[in-house]
Amino acid sequence: MSESIIFPGDRIASVEEYEAGHNTFDDGNDVRATVVGTVEIDKKERIIHVKHSSVISIPKVGDIVIGKVTAVFGTMIAVSIDYINGKPKSSHVECICSTRNLRKKRIALVNDIVCVRIISHLNGAIHATIKEPQFGVLFTKCVKCGRKVIQIRDAVKCTECSWIDERKLSSDFGTNYFVKLSEK
Ligand SMILES: [Zn+2]
Repeated sequence: MSESIIFPGDRIASVEEYEAGHNTFDDGNDVRATVVGTVEIDKKERIIHVKHSSVISIPKVGDIVIGKVTAVFGTMIAVSIDYINGKPKSSHVECICSTRNLRKKRIALVNDIVCVRIISHLNGAIHATIKEPQFGVLFTKCVKCGRKVIQIRDAVKCTECSWIDERKLSSDFGTNYFVKLSEK
């Protein structure tokens, strides 16, 4: 993440470290945020502020996000938030999607376009799910040669080298709308 986004109620610092400044409150132990934004520290005065960010588009719980997979970890993937409920958003925020309990080895690859739903905001991270049929990969390429793939049941097959590979495919996989998005 290029910028760490915090949510209302998130702990920013202890009251021993900093005093509560703009858009924050002091709960007796910790300084917490009252708005969505980014932290600004006044080291000289030892005051911590939150810069409210109306520019940053934060999806709400229940929103459908389409974005690019930016990282794949053991049991989760990070997804850039490029579209919220079908509308383009130019924020640099990512959401985290658990891939635990999905019976596939390869859920998605870096640079795949995926569709997910936001399920929570927790500890400064935006969590999403990819589990339901409509969620998953919308656009991907052959891992071997980088060419176009087509869907074969719940797998993908390269039109060039015939390599067959696993993905957690969305039921919307291959629709023109998302192919256009990925070519941007
Ligand atoms: Zn191929």
